[in-house]
Amino acid sequence: MLEKLKQEVYKANLELPERGLIKYTWGNVSGFDPETQLFVIKPSGVDYAQMKPEDMVVCNLDCEIVEGDLRPSSDMPTHAVLYKSFPNIGSVVHTHSPWATIWAQAGLDVPAMGTTHADTFYGSVPCARFLTASEINRDYEYETGNVIVETFKERNIDPNAVPAVLLQGHAPFVWAKDCEHAVMNAVVLEEVCKMNLFTQQLNAYAKALPEEILNKHYERKHGENAYYGQK
Ligand SMILES: [Zn+2]
Repeated sequence: MLEKLKQEVYKANLELPERGLIKYTWGNVSGFDPETQLFVIKPSGVDYAQMKPEDMVVCNLDCEIVEGDLRPSSDMPTHAVLYKSFPNIGSVVHTHSPWATIWAQAGLDVPAMGTTHADTFYGSVPCARFLTASEINRDYEYETGNVIVETFKERNIDPNAVPAVLLQGHAPFVWAKDCEHAVMNAVVLEEVCKMNLFTQQLNAYAKALPEEILNKHYERKHGENAYYGQK
C-alpha cells in the first residue's frame, strides 16, 4: 500500500545525508496520505546503503503500525502528533543538523535576519521548551509532539507560515506540504542558523529584518500574490 508515497519518503530520507543534514541515521522523514489518514516513515536505525523503499513503515495517527516488517523510527509518535494537529502538512523531517542543533542547544529562537529566512519562514523559528520529567516518563516522543503544538498555540504562530521548530536541547523538526519541500525547508533552516550565528558574532547588535522586507519576501513566494519562479 501507498507505494508511491514510500518511494517519495525513501528518496527524501536518502537526501538527508546527501544535503549534509545528518550523519549515520540521525534523522527521519515521513510522508502523510490525507485520503487514508496514514503516514509512511523510515524504519529505525537501518543503514541508508541497505535501506529499500519497501522497508518504509506505514502507520496510523494512533501510532500503530499498519504495514511493515521493521520497527518505525523511534520518533514516529512525534510525527503522528504533528499530522494530527497541523492539518495542512504532508511531510515531517527531523534531523540533528549541526547549525540548527546549535541554536536548539542554546535555547534560542531563530530570528529572521535576512531574506534567505524570509523566503521560507514568516518570522522567527521558535525554540520550544525542554520536556518536563513527567512528560519524559509518560511518553517521550508523543509528548515531544505535544510540546511543539503547545508552542505554536501559545505563541500564536501559524505552522503553515513558519514550518519549523527547534526543541530545546534537542534539534529541529521541519514540515511542508510534501517530502521534497520538507527537506528543502530543513536545508534552509540549517543555512539560516549558520548565517545568523556568524552575523551575530560579527555584529552583536545586528538587527532582525524590518517587517516590510519580511512581508515582501515571504509574500513574493507564498500566498495568492506570489510571483517568484515560473507559472
Ligand atoms: Zn532527535
